[in-house]
Amino acid sequence: IRLERLVEERTASLREKTLQLEQLAAHDKLTGLHNRRHADEFLRREFEHADRQRNTLAVALADIDHFKDINDSRSHSVGDRVLERVARIFRERMRGSDLLSRYGGEEFLFCFVGMNDLEAARACEDLRLAVEREDWAAISPGLRVTASFGLAVRSGEPDVQALLGRADARLYRAKQLGRNRVVAEPAEESAEAMLTRRHGGA
Ligand code: GH3
Ligand code: MG
Ligand code: MG
Repeated sequence: IRLERLVEERTASLREKTLQLEQLAAHDKLTGLHNRRHADEFLRREFEHADRQRNTLAVALADIDHFKDINDSRSHSVGDRVLERVARIFRERMRGSDLLSRYGGEEFLFCFVGMNDLEAARACEDLRLAVEREDWAAISPGLRVTASFGLAVRSGEPDVQALLGRADARLYRAKQLGRNRVVAEPAEESAEAMLTRRHGGA
């Protein structure tokens, strides 16, 4: 009996350790968001699921504009606080069923499950505006922060890499076009312009 109890206790403590390790392996330390490893796993699953169910699936990449300048002209610790704040702004605006992750240094990946192109474009535009409107001066006097977004909605891509590649190309395009914007279509059109054109204004 005593041996049984001992085995039970050890098993419970191992289970807890495993949970802690899983939490560490799936999350980013600075922002507490899911990390790239988790995001890739999530995306792969959702892509297959969307394929079977003929569901829509939108992915977006966001990248903070001129972030290196913030580090260089202020400090690395200001940069860290900006990352934490951006993560919070995004997290507060996400639905539970969607994915938000820190995908790289100052790059974030979103996965909007079941949203069509218009809904996803609007979601990205809201996120972009929220970053722009934040009171950044509270972190460092005169500080302003913006982010650029590239959005792609699944439409016949063979795999998730192809879908991500399209989002990344559009993020690159958003940077080229002057940053602080969402590029959501292959044409060189911002989400703002697309929403205005298709909805006659916000
Ligand atoms: P762009 O508008 O084209 O995106 O320019 P950028 O300066 O944002 O892009 P770049 O890729 O040149 O710089 C990204 C910087 O992000 C470089 C790197 O030192 C910084 N960075 C990455 N991870 C962290 C982090 O965890 N903390 C801080 N403070 N900086 C980080
Ligand atoms: Mg970057
Ligand atoms: Mg950047």
